[in-house]
Amino acid sequence: MYPTDRREGWSSGQGLWSDVPASDWNDWHWQLRNRITTLAQLEAKMVLTPEERAGCLFAPGKLALAITPHFFNLIDRDDPDCPVRRQVIPRIEESHVELGESSDPVGEEKTSPVPGIVHRYPDRVLFLVTDRCAAYCRYCTRSRLVSNAQAYDFHPELEAGIAYIAAHPEIRDVLLSGGDPLLLSDAKLDQLLGRLRAIPHLEVIRIGSRIPVFLPQRITPELCEVLKRNGPIWLNIHTNHPRECTQELAAACDRLALAGVPLGNQSVLLRDVNDDSLILRSLVHRLLQMRVRPYYLYACDLIEGSSHLRVPVERGIELIRSLRGHTTGFAVPQFVIDAPQGGGKVPINPNYVEAIRDGQVILRNFEDRVYQYPSGANQPVKTPIPRNLA
Ligand SMILES: *Cc1c(COP(=O)(O)O)cnc(C)c1O
Repeated sequence: MYPTDRREGWSSGQGLWSDVPASDWNDWHWQLRNRITTLAQLEAKMVLTPEERAGCLFAPGKLALAITPHFFNLIDRDDPDCPVRRQVIPRIEESHVELGESSDPVGEEKTSPVPGIVHRYPDRVLFLVTDRCAAYCRYCTRSRLVSNAQAYDFHPELEAGIAYIAAHPEIRDVLLSGGDPLLLSDAKLDQLLGRLRAIPHLEVIRIGSRIPVFLPQRITPELCEVLKRNGPIWLNIHTNHPRECTQELAAACDRLALAGVPLGNQSVLLRDVNDDSLILRSLVHRLLQMRVRPYYLYACDLIEGSSHLRVPVERGIELIRSLRGHTTGFAVPQFVIDAPQGGGKVPINPNYVEAIRDGQVILRNFEDRVYQYPSGANQPVKTPIPRNLA
């Protein structure tokens, strides 16, 4: 069902918008202006399930509904369980809040020295530069501050953020996020990247963005020029399912890669979206074909109203085990849990070490076979050089 050997990503082209001039369709401003943002617009295009309909009525006070025409075309409207659909169409389960869930599930607020900066690790910071995205993922960890649906009133303070980074020489790596940084205009992004590039102790500048997936039209030659000029800029995209790997995304990744942007991918493990070995394998294979290196697979954060999308951690470990050794080593993402209360990302791995005893490590390989390797380093033996080799 999800062939892994297909080099060409598929495309639904203009799909439901086939009467629109191609010049409009390919214009990212047109895509943004024509997003689906209301229940009425959604129902004009598809039949919703009762759970989705109620979800759309509940959503506006929590996290806005927004879907770009490009991404909407990837939905199978005849399949209520479509894995693309579950990511962006609200469901009534979002109103069910479980114990332990929170509006700030990874404790960003308490590690924020100035608005927009999250300084959790010693040498790097997260810099939230906008509160808007092209479309909204229903499991968004920053539901509290993106889309303006809650009373949060987030105004990214770019000057304060830049000043904080400049004043802290221990910061060698900045990750621009939001909201989606690629929604900033070319001029604004150019200016921001230029200001960051001028900070002498900043070695790495990276961007987390789902724009290539939601709005590939945004990856214009002009934007790529901005990234190239201020490079190297590292960029992580966010795909969860092979169906998102369209021709349009592949072309956008090509433009980025040719502008010298190293590409990675972050996925979130989601129930009935990608909690399946074949689907995950197909996803990572397609990513590699687009020059994108799978980086992290996240356990879904404990954001309020996400329990219907979460997957048991044991299942995540099994899925990683199903990939490791069975496919290209660098196709396997690192499974992580972003620990609640600001603990940071913790790597979660299958255990391949059975025991360490009697000077031996007992290893279990990907085929479930057992091997041994001496666990201790030998004392180096002073070896005399034979006369004929001296
Ligand atoms: C994820 C994250 C980073 C970057 O983490 P890496 O493991 O280096 O990719 C930095 N700061 C914060 C607050 C983060 O959440």
